[in-house]
Amino acid sequence: VKVAKPNIVGITKPANDNEPVRYGPWLPTKKVAKACGAKHYFTGLICKHGHIAPRLTSNGACMDCHNLRCGERHKIKRQTDEEWRTAANEKQKQRYHANPQASYDQGKKWRAANQNYVREYSREYQRRLRAADPARNEKTKDSMRMKRLNAAYVEAERQRDRERYARNPIPHRQKSRQYAIDNPEVAATHARNRRARIKQSEGEHTKDEIEDLRIRQKHKCASCGTSTKKSYDVDHIIPISKGGSNSISNLQILCPTCNRQKNNLDPIVFARRKGRLL
Ligand SMILES: [Zn+2]
Ligand SMILES: [Zn+2]
Repeated sequence: VKVAKPNIVGITKPANDNEPVRYGPWLPTKKVAKACGAKHYFTGLICKHGHIAPRLTSNGACMDCHNLRCGERHKIKRQTDEEWRTAANEKQKQRYHANPQASYDQGKKWRAANQNYVREYSREYQRRLRAADPARNEKTKDSMRMKRLNAAYVEAERQRDRERYARNPIPHRQKSRQYAIDNPEVAATHARNRRARIKQSEGEHTKDEIEDLRIRQKHKCASCGTSTKKSYDVDHIIPISKGGSNSISNLQILCPTCNRQKNNLDPIVFARRKGRLL
């Protein structure tokens, strides 16, 4: 199976003929790559582990496989070999200075592919900072108040806002409001997760998990069996206020009537009132 050549961040053709060909993912075969002295070539064929990636000229290995193998080895080296770590950091610094934009693009791509990790990491990071200094948030607010007493600072802030508005006249808030109107399920899930997080409940769920749950319940209310195709509420089986989790295993779809009745009741109490259970 032949496919289009990948767009590989940071690996570009040399700008002119005088520059040596170090990377050549646009070269079709190992032979050609070898002749040019290029480190890579690209056949467009899928490797035996399912990757579509450039190959190494030296041994024909798929780059994705190669990176995976090296990644594991490097992870261990980084933790155990001080000298290796220093050299690796230095190399990375040089790579960054040679082409900052490529590093930036690569980081952006990685963050987009690992959004959950990034979100969890930054939450954990903030948690750590707060744990080290419980008054941290108040201190930040105080320092902002002090800064805003300075006329020059306030003017610079306004100037920055004006420039931002000139760049993007539709404010971010308006955009996200429109997104919520266009994607009500996503917005509702987001709001539930946020409420649960504020109440320090464990767990998170996604819009797709809710969709899946609706299908598993055959679009029927878990309590009375009414159709929930047109309107439905997502209910925490054990309420968050009673220590219930916010993950999909503690969620059920109810019709709005049942949800209003259940309100904040314990599931057992609710079931008894409905004349079921015990
Ligand atoms: Zn591979
Ligand atoms: Zn119902």
